[in-house]
Amino acid sequence: MQANFSVYRKEPGAGSKAGRSTYTVELPEDATVIDALLKIRDEQDPTLGFRGSCLHGYCGDCTVRINGKAGFSCAVKVAPLAAKGGEIAVEPIRNMPVIKDLISDWDTFLWDKIDVIKPWLEPNGAASLDGEELIDDKVMAKVRQAMSCFYCGLCDEGCTVLPVDFKFVGPAALTKASRFLCDPRDHATAERLRILERPKGMWDCVHCFEASEHCPREIAPTERIIEMRDMAFKHGITNEKVARHHHSFANSVRNSGWLDEGRLAIESEGLTNIKGLMKLLPTAAKAVARGKAPIPFLHHKRPGADKIARIIEKAEAKEK
Ligand code: SF4
Repeated sequence: MQANFSVYRKEPGAGSKAGRSTYTVELPEDATVIDALLKIRDEQDPTLGFRGSCLHGYCGDCTVRINGKAGFSCAVKVAPLAAKGGEIAVEPIRNMPVIKDLISDWDTFLWDKIDVIKPWLEPNGAASLDGEELIDDKVMAKVRQAMSCFYCGLCDEGCTVLPVDFKFVGPAALTKASRFLCDPRDHATAERLRILERPKGMWDCVHCFEASEHCPREIAPTERIIEMRDMAFKHGITNEKVARHHHSFANSVRNSGWLDEGRLAIESEGLTNIKGLMKLLPTAAKAVARGKAPIPFLHHKRPGADKIARIIEKAEAKEK
């Protein structure tokens, strides 16, 4: 099989310009994208930079974008892509600074962020005399599931916050935090939640669920972030703005059956927070200019709103 590749290229250094190199490679029918990259490097271009380690889809080291979709280059077969004709585009994953070609900077992307969340267990001293602490299977299953994260970065790649704010700690690091928060052997829950409630932490997730969609291990990073927030509320650890946001959201849906976005923005900032409200003006002006401004006093009750209110009441009663 013959396949044509268009590979992202960039030399190290802030001033270097990104470009593309094209290659035509002869490959066996069962070849993967990393087989192609290895062949290109061996036979055509020894300067091509990319990563790969286990070559069996276990380590996540070779994560790249292939024809616009993130995946492991060792697991994506070339044949179906080549059959479509044209060039197969291989690029570094999104949201990550590039060191060279397909090699991304995992330190700033992931490891530095994981450092922030205190990535070690603080034993609670509940071990029995023989040093064992028995944990319920169900509880341990959740811990184990989080431990199966192999830092492939796909959740951060799919994250919709990181492209606009690279300082956001990101779903991969938050998944690591969740691993300790759901472990009953850990006694640093309050401290961890205080770290996570800082700006750029768990509250910055917009729960778009892209992280969960992207995770190949079904660890459900988004659901874990939502659980962490609930945990924070239960521990009385609430960033005030977020608490106001939650209340406004719930009140809006309870009262009208749908979300009043204008009111949500204003109430989240706080009615007496003049500085915060002023900050909303440029966004509001843009929304008005595009005909997308939600006008709070025009927000009407939807048909069926009473039913929705009853559902909320029931859910709240169950929660209590
Ligand atoms: S949570 Fe899933 S997608 Fe994110 S780094 Fe871990 S294994 Fe990869």
